[in-house]
Amino acid sequence: MKARYLFLRIRCGLAFLLGCACPISRAQDTDLLLVNGNIYTLSEAQPRAEAVAAHEGKIVFVGSNEDAKRLRGEHTRLVDLHGQTVVPGLTDSHCHIFEIGERELNLNLEGTNSLEDFLEKVKAYVAQSRPGAWVTGRGWIETFWKSPRFPTRQDLDKIAPRNPLFLTRADGHTAVANSDALKWAEIDKHTPNPFGGEILKDQETGEPNGMLLDNARDLVAKHIPRPRVADQEKAFLLAVKREIELGWCEIQNAGSNANEIAGMRRCLEAGEVKLRIYNAVYGPGKDAQAFLKEGSTLDAYDRHFTQRTIKVVLDGALGSRGAALLKPYADTPGTSGFLTEKETDLKPMFEEALRRGIQVETHAIGDRANRIILDLYEQAFAAVPPEQRKVREPRWRVEHAQILDAADTPRFAKLGVIPSMQPSHAISDLFFAPSRLGMDRLTGAYAWQSLIKSGCVIAGGSDAPIERGEPMIEFYAATSRQSLKGFSGEGWHPEQAVSREQALKMLTLWSAFAAFEEKDKGSIEVGKLADFTVLSKDIMRISEPEILNTRCIMTIIGGEVVFEAAR
Ligand SMILES: [Zn+2]
Repeated sequence: MKARYLFLRIRCGLAFLLGCACPISRAQDTDLLLVNGNIYTLSEAQPRAEAVAAHEGKIVFVGSNEDAKRLRGEHTRLVDLHGQTVVPGLTDSHCHIFEIGERELNLNLEGTNSLEDFLEKVKAYVAQSRPGAWVTGRGWIETFWKSPRFPTRQDLDKIAPRNPLFLTRADGHTAVANSDALKWAEIDKHTPNPFGGEILKDQETGEPNGMLLDNARDLVAKHIPRPRVADQEKAFLLAVKREIELGWCEIQNAGSNANEIAGMRRCLEAGEVKLRIYNAVYGPGKDAQAFLKEGSTLDAYDRHFTQRTIKVVLDGALGSRGAALLKPYADTPGTSGFLTEKETDLKPMFEEALRRGIQVETHAIGDRANRIILDLYEQAFAAVPPEQRKVREPRWRVEHAQILDAADTPRFAKLGVIPSMQPSHAISDLFFAPSRLGMDRLTGAYAWQSLIKSGCVIAGGSDAPIERGEPMIEFYAATSRQSLKGFSGEGWHPEQAVSREQALKMLTLWSAFAAFEEKDKGSIEVGKLADFTVLSKDIMRISEPEILNTRCIMTIIGGEVVFEAAR
């Protein structure tokens, strides 16, 4: 013991002389000590442990209860885990943090089970709104309704004749507006579809039916008054709180505009944000241009904020038939979806991003969008060779990578492009994807195992608020590939499900890699940041349905217990 103390003293002295930070400043001094844990470290050298200690935000010890005893100092917070399970701090690699908060603050239409139910909820909300005021809401999804059809403006006019309504579908790519809202936007039967969008029209009369896909939403959305700064920040902080309570230690925000970035920075500056945020800026456009000029922000606000990514949206969603496919939709042969950006706008931005060391992540759902984005990335990589790049290995990402043609699957690993995928999409979409795509195309749909076998890592995320955004739903979906009730239809390729270890890596190590953070995050090892998620059950061993009953007991970020469930 004495010898060890001396050794530490010498080591600390040396570290001081060399000007580097010492992991433990005194032999028995740590900020946080977790003991009696069932710890999965994801470190190959030491996969399991009973105890872990943190000091000054970092992990300083991983090992046995016995060895941990000496690390308990006067100021140490000791937590007896009573056998509970600890995993590396979980990361949601793809979510929309402002929208998560706004869903809580505005009309939340999740879980409606019929058109009548949906209309009733809207009607009740409208009754409390001032006549003439805009009413916005989100979260409805007709595929779960008893008779699954899109709502129309006429449906809405009956319950809200005096307020403009704009209600976004759960997928975030589609909205329904009432006649009043369409009037604001001057949309009638003669209005042409904008690029990358569609105004759905009644087949008999040619009149718009209220449904607006992708870029057509903006025709109405631009008339909705912007949320006040205070409301926007309230939504953001509400979402941050929710994420931490669910056990997320980091979220990777899949797109933000200049207002949102300013709001986030204000909240971070004020010290109100305990969650780690890896932020992307929407592009192309003026926000992305400004970002390219000013460059990345790395590990700001005490390592709580990094911004080094541009987010592009290249096509629509599968449910609303906006995803760009190589061949027509199986259930609507007249359409094969559409792209929402022009290749000519992307090319110069991509090359500039490589030169400036900015990562690009692109939403691509359909097999055509995925092929095109891989082509565009490949062309940019060829146009700007490594020696001309600020970051030689750019780790560009494709968000969703949902439907892939067999020829494109191996291109991800070959190009070093990371698929960023949301397991819950596969278990929500299994109810309608077979009819949209037909059986053959399902081979390359949500093809996690094919991508991993081809040499990829997959960053795992939830796409909340499009999905619920709960880590255990993502973990369950990745490993079971079945609906929450255990259903999986014909041709849903159970062989594409991943192992529990792979699922855990999708939410930890691999998401860290997709953010250039694997040296600091993603596993429980000495020297990494002390981010841990404590769970009520051993998710590596319990039965599949039990995973969904698992709760977050404690969220620890940078060695600080930022959430603790009531016992
Ligand atoms: Zn998204």
